[in-house]
Amino acid sequence: MKKFACRDTGMDCPFETSAESEEELMQKISAHAKEAHGLDVIDDAMMHKVKEAIQDEPSEEQEAEEDSEDSEAKAEQ
Ligand SMILES: [Zn+2]
Repeated sequence: MKKFACRDTGMDCPFETSAESEEELMQKISAHAKEAHGLDVIDDAMMHKVKEAIQDEPSEEQEAEEDSEDSEAKAEQ
């Protein structure tokens, strides 16, 4: 799950959206950018901001399988 909040791009805008894939998310974002901000085209600079603002939301069924067998071998000497 990908999440995007318009304000994370520096916009003073409460729009938030989410989608299963980045591709789908980008479609929603560009539709919003067009409707709300009059951006027919998202240029490279904006695209960069958008991609930085996209967050990965881990799915609910994520097991925190953390069997860290990190026995810190202090092989100093
Ligand atoms: Zn917006």
